[in-house]
Amino acid sequence: MPSSLAKHRRAAFARQNGRCHYCGFPMWLEDPAELSARFDLADHDAARLQCSAEHLVARQDGGGDGADNIVAACLFCNATRHRLSPSPDATKYRHHVQRQLDASGWHKKRLRQRLAEFSLRSMGANGICQGSARVG
Ligand SMILES: [Zn+2]
Repeated sequence: MPSSLAKHRRAAFARQNGRCHYCGFPMWLEDPAELSARFDLADHDAARLQCSAEHLVARQDGGGDGADNIVAACLFCNATRHRLSPSPDATKYRHHVQRQLDASGWHKKRLRQRLAEFSLRSMGANGICQGSARVG
């Protein structure tokens, strides 16, 4: 990964208080041990919550590596978005993740239980999806 991307990833991580742009779960940047210990997570569960640099507009759609196109997302949300074909746009995907969380269909049960109180709902601060996440 180019160092500028790593820098943007770290900046986004700090800006988002260490939470995933899509699911709102806490992530780890350098070392999963702290997160594992804090939430009593198994290693393979913590591995899904590694912070990754996520392109809001995917590279294949012309998105750049600039800070304004990079958010921090957990590995699970990031990988899942890009496994979909075509990859949904970031705003739509965020709504999708939140609906799945509401329906208990995102992340494994054990993870959700341990991290429930940290879900996006309790975040609210940047409010991109506020008011609409529960509709429907
Ligand atoms: Zn996530």
